[in-house]
Amino acid sequence: MVHDSLRHKGMRRKLVETVAEKGITDPLVLDAIGKVPRHLFMESSFVKFAYKDQAFPIGAGQTISQPYTVAFQTQLLDVATNSKILEVGTGSGYQAAVLLEMGAQVFTIERQRELYVKVQQLLPKIGYQPRFFFGDGYKGLPTYGPFDGIVVTAGAPYIPDDLKQQLKVGARLVIPVSKGEHQVMTVVERVSENEFDEKQYGMFSFVPLLKGTS
Ligand code: SAH
Repeated sequence: MVHDSLRHKGMRRKLVETVAEKGITDPLVLDAIGKVPRHLFMESSFVKFAYKDQAFPIGAGQTISQPYTVAFQTQLLDVATNSKILEVGTGSGYQAAVLLEMGAQVFTIERQRELYVKVQQLLPKIGYQPRFFFGDGYKGLPTYGPFDGIVVTAGAPYIPDDLKQQLKVGARLVIPVSKGEHQVMTVVERVSENEFDEKQYGMFSFVPLLKGTS
């Protein structure tokens, strides 16, 4: 189950090329995409598609994000080694693994118990150790913050103030914000204690950021 073959490595190299052709330039991000064995994060019926640059179902109505989207969000986060990163929406754990490969300390929250339980069994087995939390990511993790970066991996109807307040000065929140059926990738940078700068980076498609837990 935790098997990573030469064939998988070869397919991963191709995936890195695809993601680079689509515009990802950060060598640390490309390197991390090249290292994480995505096939181990997928449901058995989709394993053969693991290195396609597409999102796939992971159960509980959720998806593993498209590698390009993971790379794009990670590039915008600007992760430094040892930085403390909060991820909202653990899902399959793939994004968390990419951040861990980049040397970040990762705190990740999931609101669906089934996925939360599943990912906690899988990730440590394949060598990834984020800190897992079950709860509503709209609230962030006030007792563990502030963070050097926050990444939201579900489409948010608005930018939650709790997340902005958990950024260190100079840190960024990368969050897809709903506009019609899709989301605008948005970066909120805390430029001082009370000032936030907002930039937008194109349209993406995510599952919705929901309230509460289930
Ligand atoms: N980062 C994931 C993407 C999973 S899809 C990956 O790499 O696979 C988005 C995830 O966000 C889903 O698992 C969904 O259950 C979760 N989610 C949605 N709303 C949430 C919330 N308010 N708090 C925490 N997680 C949430």
